[in-house]
Amino acid sequence: MVTQNGLVRIVEQVAAEQVAGSMLRVMVGDETYLFEAGSEMTHGKKPFPLTPEQIKALQNTTFGHGHGDHILRTLELIAKGFNGKFYSTHQTAAIAKIQFREEASGPFIHNKMVAGKTFQYGPKKGQPLPKQPFEFRSEDVNAAMAMFASLDGQEPGFPYETDIEIGDGVTIKFYEAGHIPGAAQTMYKISKGGKKINVLFAYDLGRTDYKILGHPVADIPLVKFPTTDFDEQIDYIVIEATYGNRIHRPLQESLTALTEAAREAEKNKGVLVIPAFSIMRTQMLWNFLFELEQKGQLPDDMIFYSSSPMADQVARIMLSHKEDFNRQAMAEFQSANDNPFYFPKLVHQKTGKETAETIAELMGKTPIGVIASSGMCDMGRIIPILEQTISDPRNVVLLTGYCAPGTRADMMKKGQPKIPFTDQEVELKAKVMEMGGLSGHADCVEMLAHLNHLFNNGRNPPKGIYIKHGDKAACWALRDEIIKAGYSPDIVHVMQKGEEYQLN
Ligand SMILES: [Zn+2]
Repeated sequence: MVTQNGLVRIVEQVAAEQVAGSMLRVMVGDETYLFEAGSEMTHGKKPFPLTPEQIKALQNTTFGHGHGDHILRTLELIAKGFNGKFYSTHQTAAIAKIQFREEASGPFIHNKMVAGKTFQYGPKKGQPLPKQPFEFRSEDVNAAMAMFASLDGQEPGFPYETDIEIGDGVTIKFYEAGHIPGAAQTMYKISKGGKKINVLFAYDLGRTDYKILGHPVADIPLVKFPTTDFDEQIDYIVIEATYGNRIHRPLQESLTALTEAAREAEKNKGVLVIPAFSIMRTQMLWNFLFELEQKGQLPDDMIFYSSSPMADQVARIMLSHKEDFNRQAMAEFQSANDNPFYFPKLVHQKTGKETAETIAELMGKTPIGVIASSGMCDMGRIIPILEQTISDPRNVVLLTGYCAPGTRADMMKKGQPKIPFTDQEVELKAKVMEMGGLSGHADCVEMLAHLNHLFNNGRNPPKGIYIKHGDKAACWALRDEIIKAGYSPDIVHVMQKGEEYQLN
């Protein structure tokens, strides 16, 4: 029997002292609400973090945004007996549909590496690829999408800044988070027995628009960050520490790195291969290429091929919600008269076959760029592209973000002489360069600036700040910084997996 002291109790089931796998329970009296059902993105799924009894007890589930580490165990949640409603913004519901379809078409990550094979790289080298415990069909995706609540019974999801009653005395409201299209800071407003508590889930949070003295802030995200004031008191806030101990490099350095990589590929008429995630990272790259092209900073005869249907689908969602764009991106839209995702030097390709043929035809004849997913090169269309290109010293690989240990991106970053693929090892002779600085997450300084924005505007300080979604070192470093900024150590907590926090 759990002691029920707090009016509200919160429990993070997965992403405590780690980045991936957000799944947080919000308990109000006898009712339990789930905030997100994220995947840990590991090879082989871990046991589901909720018991069948806990799943059956859930009233409904809310999603802050559509990244896999926040939504990709949703189909499994339904298969295990969840029968409530889903709440999200319109854009998150649209992205969820794309992600669920991907999951159903050939379940994510490892399953695409073909059942019956063994791991060819990383710490599990030689071990068989695990079988997926669940397999989903398109009917399951349709059933999941039918569970999304909507404002008007039509387009699934809700607009920002709208009160949505999700339970007895429980109302939620989405505020922009500037992370990916539709990403929200989600406020739970709980009113029970004459008491009221507002809890804000402020993750994943994008790069801020705040101008912070001495900090390399740039209008990096295409999506807008909320600089408007919240119109309600925030009693408790849950934040992320993904970059809790780091400060991003200035955007200009990243753009310079992109130009240098293009010039490097131009030298020998090689292929510039850019592995990039298809939700936001790829759209940012298109936008940067557009910007560099406008400034005349790309090689004249270099064409870029984007080979990612999922990125194209996400772009369409973005273009149907232009109100999400930040000021700079919006200005570019207007000056381009159309949009900066489509311009003469950028060709969108649908199939991997088209891309393979383009590379075979043009490599060594004219410099080209190829963008494909995934960013860490452990899944997706980038894999055959790397197999086709990395043994040629004329080519360049430009890494665009974090490379988890054991991934091919990490191996290339470290200059490993041979890179393993499912059926072969390929010698790495292409030049490997790094871009960096493109994160869609607020860094340590930006996170503090956001807290400052929320609480130093004549508001009451929060009664509790809960830190999750970061590795252990980042979580504790961010806690130190928050305390240095003047918050009482008594209210700043690094969340522990499964621990129940009492909010009053
Ligand atoms: Zn995210």
